[in-house]
Amino acid sequence: MKILITNDDGIYSPGLAALSEVAATLGDVRVVAPHVEMSSAAHSITSARPLTYKRTPIPGIEAYRVNGTPADCVAVGIYQWKDAEIVLSGINLGSNLGNSLWPSGTVAAARQAALMGLRGIALSTPAVGEETDFSALKPWVTRVLKFLLPISGLPLINVNFPSSLPRGVRWTRQSVRHYDGKIVPGKDPLGRQHFWFTVTPVEEIEQGTDRWAVEQGYVSLTPVRLDLTDDVHLSQTEAIHSPAELSFA
Ligand code: MN
Repeated sequence: MKILITNDDGIYSPGLAALSEVAATLGDVRVVAPHVEMSSAAHSITSARPLTYKRTPIPGIEAYRVNGTPADCVAVGIYQWKDAEIVLSGINLGSNLGNSLWPSGTVAAARQAALMGLRGIALSTPAVGEETDFSALKPWVTRVLKFLLPISGLPLINVNFPSSLPRGVRWTRQSVRHYDGKIVPGKDPLGRQHFWFTVTPVEEIEQGTDRWAVEQGYVSLTPVRLDLTDDVHLSQTEAIHSPAELSFA
């Protein structure tokens, strides 16, 4: 299996190195990742300037850095490696749960793969302390990938590891009940006001969701859709508010 690996933390992230090492035991690996950190870049693409694709020395791995977003990396990576079959994105230093799926560059890279007809798997782990212990996590990454890779028909999967060693794996749905974005004001060294976009803990975690699973110590596996259409409201609203009433005659 030909596995393209990317992330949004940048090509020198230890999470990318850990994922590459695991993936190299499962197939042929090539890394194409952003040259700098692009966390929270969401699914942005670079359209106003050209992209570069430069070889980067990572021992034992064919790796390239791109001066663009995670989605750019996947598009350029697939262009350069037409045999690529699957894209793994991560392992992100920080969970991607619930509403984080909107700004996440990690998930966007996997989604870009799915939009291009390949499978995409995003992987994230909580960023705890100074350094995440990937040596302890790697056997679980291997286990999860060996479980997911043979499952065809799922174009996009969002994987989140818990903060301690997992007690198992659960299929979940995205938690959406609360929005956890919060603006915190502050002052810079010259006394000028600025603002940080940050997150606060979310209350009332619904059972069966991604947040619930990782809080319970499980690895969360969420199949993510590409079609954002709100089917329920579409059929309800269409029945009540018919656009046929609009006449331009
Ligand atoms: Mn990140």
